[in-house]
Amino acid sequence: MANDSNKFQAIISHCKEYGFIFPSSEIYDGLQAVYDYGQMGSELKKNIKDYWWKSMTQLHDNIVGIDAAIFMHPTTWKASGHVDNFNDPMIDNKDSKKRYRVDHLIEGFAEELRIKGEKESNEADNLLGQMDSLLAKDDFAGLKTLIETNKIKCAVSDTCNWTDIRQFNLMFSTEFGSTVSSDDEDNKVYLRPETAQGIFVNFLNVQKTGRMKIPFGIAQIGKAFRNEIVARQFIFRMREFEQMEMQFFIRPGTQKEWYEKWKTTRLEWHKSLGIPAEKYRYHDHVKLAHYADAACDIEFEFPIGFKELEGIHSRTDFDLKQHQEYSKKKQQYFDNDVDPTTGKAYGNYIPYVIETSIGLDRMFLAVMSHAYEEQDLSTAEKQDSRVVLKFPPKLSPIKLAILPLTKRDGLPEIAEQIMNDCKADFRCFYEEKDSIGKRYRRMDALGTPFCVTVDHQSKEDNTVTIRHRDSMEQERVAIADLKNIVLNAIG
Ligand code: ATP
Repeated sequence: MANDSNKFQAIISHCKEYGFIFPSSEIYDGLQAVYDYGQMGSELKKNIKDYWWKSMTQLHDNIVGIDAAIFMHPTTWKASGHVDNFNDPMIDNKDSKKRYRVDHLIEGFAEELRIKGEKESNEADNLLGQMDSLLAKDDFAGLKTLIETNKIKCAVSDTCNWTDIRQFNLMFSTEFGSTVSSDDEDNKVYLRPETAQGIFVNFLNVQKTGRMKIPFGIAQIGKAFRNEIVARQFIFRMREFEQMEMQFFIRPGTQKEWYEKWKTTRLEWHKSLGIPAEKYRYHDHVKLAHYADAACDIEFEFPIGFKELEGIHSRTDFDLKQHQEYSKKKQQYFDNDVDPTTGKAYGNYIPYVIETSIGLDRMFLAVMSHAYEEQDLSTAEKQDSRVVLKFPPKLSPIKLAILPLTKRDGLPEIAEQIMNDCKADFRCFYEEKDSIGKRYRRMDALGTPFCVTVDHQSKEDNTVTIRHRDSMEQERVAIADLKNIVLNAIG
């Protein structure tokens, strides 16, 4: 098995070779940190989306979904704080001219210490602790000193010749129509850096038209854009990416309880995919964003180490309050439930919010990196190996491959019949080229959980051989049972 950094490279190559992910506009040498999903990748991505959407909306009576526009009124981003606060502290190396996000530079160095060994792993924790507390105070001079005293070098120039630390806004902006000048700060239109604000500005629309009663949630899946400086980790950090977010509106004072509940619920969702619990951990934030009174990440062990996959944030009433102030439109909810301590209705208030926010592309990478396995299948007689993607069957791009043993003798006709019977229920793939062994390997590399081979016996007794991807075991089953076997596995 490849080591982890090799594994990451192997996954990137595999994604390209098998039609999962291509660099954007590759014929023009690509565009940094922008990627296209290919014929297999778009299926896997859609399956992840559907799984999230179903569990968040259909399986929660009090959560509904929306699909808001990417463009929003520019004042949205002033109200949300993004114009003033959506900055990352950056530092440039004077020799290489390369720019780094300060937290990434220090985290990368801490990771190197960890890889070096036990003793240094305490050092790594100390270093990260110091970084967190300096970040919490926005102490840029202190952060620069931390970088210098630890002799943290630029990976390109190998020097410690650093500039001062500066803030850098991560939002992309553009112009709207022909009347607006791009120089006019007040009329700048932004590409949304998070989907959440589309939910906040629609809070009352949904609450009223959907007759929603607090507590309730609004979910959304959509594109977000950030002008990330360090953008070299494949789909982990992209400039255009997709988020799956849910804002849960609650009564003020109940936020601690709901925050804990969503922390647990979201981790359970991850585990429900069959990925082992030890691949996940919580990371509580020390430096809280300007809108939060508690926040944590669910981190996943990617081949590049434990990193944020999802954020759970207690956003207080910050966003709705800000929108109320900037729009001059009340963002209140009338709660006619009775408060047992006063015996009166709770009345009007601006709800508090718990947010769950997961990157779809990061989830894709988590699923892909857990599924990817290089297996040595050599025996005394011959050398053999395979790459298999052990996706949870419900996420696999193709569920069933239908393979006639030969192109003759009526076998393709039986195979086509199976295809026609199943393709309305799940994604099937038909192939008659190459040996069965080669076809199996190709399906392993795409993560197809089931292959069926139609052979001469099929003509006699209406059975086929079904081959299971992970165990590679084969069994004879009735054609009539096939659909249910697959449906049970992906249900
Ligand atoms: P990070 O610290 O890694 O930059 P963040 O804390 O800024 O992430 P949030 O603003 O909490 O991220 O966004 C919620 C989720 O959106 C993240 O947990 C992540 O899965 C995803 N996400 C954020 N930025 C990106 C990006 N540039 N590319 C891909 N996914 C992203």
